Amino acid sequence: MTKVLAVGQYSDIDLKALNADFGAPPLEDLARIADLPESDRAQVTALAYKGHHALDGAVMDLLPGLKLIANFGVGYDAINIADASARGITVTNTPNVLNDDVADLAVALLVMEQRKLTASEQWMRDGRWPTEGAYPLARKMSGRKVGVLGMGRIGREIADRLAAFKCEIHYQSRSRKDAPDGWTYHADPVALAGAVDDLVIAVVGGPETVGFVSAEVIEALGPDGIIVNIARGTVIDEPALLDALESGRLRGAGLDVFLNEPDIDPRFLALPNVTVLPHVGSATAETRAAMGDLQRQNIHAHLQGQALVTPVN
Ligand code: NAP
Repeated sequence: MTKVLAVGQYSDIDLKALNADFGAPPLEDLARIADLPESDRAQVTALAYKGHHALDGAVMDLLPGLKLIANFGVGYDAINIADASARGITVTNTPNVLNDDVADLAVALLVMEQRKLTASEQWMRDGRWPTEGAYPLARKMSGRKVGVLGMGRIGREIADRLAAFKCEIHYQSRSRKDAPDGWTYHADPVALAGAVDDLVIAVVGGPETVGFVSAEVIEALGPDGIIVNIARGTVIDEPALLDALESGRLRGAGLDVFLNEPDIDPRFLALPNVTVLPHVGSATAETRAAMGDLQRQNIHAHLQGQALVTPVN
């Protein structure tokens, strides 16, 4: 057994690199750790993790020598940071290298919903153009007032792209940012939603932001609004979102993330005013390769006793 254990469903490129760099034997999921012999578990000092299942103190205690959890992904909401810190374990993530992909996807979801691109493409494939004539009119995307909830690394990239679409930019963060002239700061999500046409969510997941986009926020956005979520399913009150979409109190939604992925609430799939994607925000070959690289850079730094590249705690 080596000092590095890899857990998760890695691409062939990452598996090859993990094996070449560390001889790290990959396990499919966290539950398999308990099957390893105790003497093997005791040697592990670094865990390369890729997944969304809860990684808490009970799992960490199976690896008593663990000093590093190198997460594949910027969002580390699945990892209990307090449990890690209490055990002297440092967590790293993979920020920045995925900003462009996730921001591209957020804007794409907004365009897809405004212009009804999924539905109109399906209309054409179903052969309805020759028999039923022109597709019903959609709505104009450029020039809308859009609120970015969470002006962090990805939020900023989304706002920059929306500005190029001539949108009026509003945002909410815990503090005012150094933003271009004309962008409007709002102190809380309800005020933000009340001031804009559409809302794009880019806030962190985790216990502190559960239900951040509440029924009140959705109500404040109103029946002409569209919500895009590329953050985490937990940040929206999902039952309130579904009720609003089903009753017409919200015009539409573009969603890359959900509660209970991949077994999402089937009510979403029955809705014509929702574009659903299977959590593919960073899912390009280029970006996933960069994320794997950064994960391994952190492990190398740990093994060589150097400063970690992107520590979280
Ligand atoms: P980031 O730079 O850390 O930005 C996070 C934003 O969340 C910041 O605006 C921050 O507010 C806000 N925030 C943090 N803690 C908060 C709290 N307790 N209450 C309210 N707001 C809080 O992170 P990022 O790199 O942009 O990533 C954002 C999220 O996107 C990730 O955490 C992840 O969940 C998600 N993501 C999804 C995909 C996908 O495939 N769909 C891919 C990558 C990332 P301040 O500005 O006030 O600090």
